[in-house]
Amino acid sequence: MEQSATDSASGWQRACHECDLLLGNNNAPPGGKLVCPRCSAVIHRNPARSIHYTAALSISGLLLFIPAATLPLLNFSIIAFGSENTLLNGVFSLFGAGYIWLASLVLFCSVVAPFTRFLLLAFISLGCLWGALDRPVSRAVRWYQHIKEWAMLDVYMLGVLVALIKMQSLGKMVVESGLYCFVGLMVLSNLTLLSFDQQSVWRRMARRRAAAAVTDAGGVTP
Ligand SMILES: [Zn+2]
Repeated sequence: MEQSATDSASGWQRACHECDLLLGNNNAPPGGKLVCPRCSAVIHRNPARSIHYTAALSISGLLLFIPAATLPLLNFSIIAFGSENTLLNGVFSLFGAGYIWLASLVLFCSVVAPFTRFLLLAFISLGCLWGALDRPVSRAVRWYQHIKEWAMLDVYMLGVLVALIKMQSLGKMVVESGLYCFVGLMVLSNLTLLSFDQQSVWRRMARRRAAAAVTDAGGVTP
C-alpha cells in the first residue's frame, strides 16, 4: 500500500521494451513477474528477497574468487614435462610473450570485471540498508550496469573447455581444484543476474525517503 503510494507519487511511466506500450509505474508483485498485455513480453521480474539473496551470492562470489584465481585450473603434462596453469598465470604468460593488449583484455574480462561486479553487488545490497549511503549506492548501480557486460567468465570457461578437448590428444590433461572453483564462480555470477533486481533498491530508498519526510513533517507540526 505504502509502495503503490510512493510509486504513483513519483509519476514515472514504465514502457514495454518490445512494443513501447506505456504501462504506468507498475511493479511485479514479490516473487512474480509483470507481463505486457499487448505483446506478452516479460517487463519486470521481482525475485522474492532479491537484496538478501544478492548479498549472500555476491559475498560468496568474492570469497570464491580467491581460490578460482590462484589455484591451478588444469595440469598439462607430456612425458616427463608438466605444468600447472592458474587464471593469473595465463595472463602473466601472455604479458611475458608480448601480447600486451590481449593480456590486458583477458585480465579485465576474466578477473577485474567479474571481481568488480561481485564487489559492486555486495556494496549495493548491503549499502542500501543505510540511508547515509543512498548516493554512493545509486552511483554503484550505474557502474554495475556498465561493468556487467564485460564480466565474461563463461567465455573464459569455453576457452578452457576447448583447450581441454583439443590438447587431450597431445598429452595428459588433469582437471585441478581451481577449475571447480571457477565453475562455482560462474554459477554464482549467473545466479546474481537472476536474483538482483535494481527496482528493489530504488523502492527501498524511496520508502526510506518517504518515511523520513513523514517524520520531518511530524516534527515541525505544532
Ligand atoms: Zn509489449
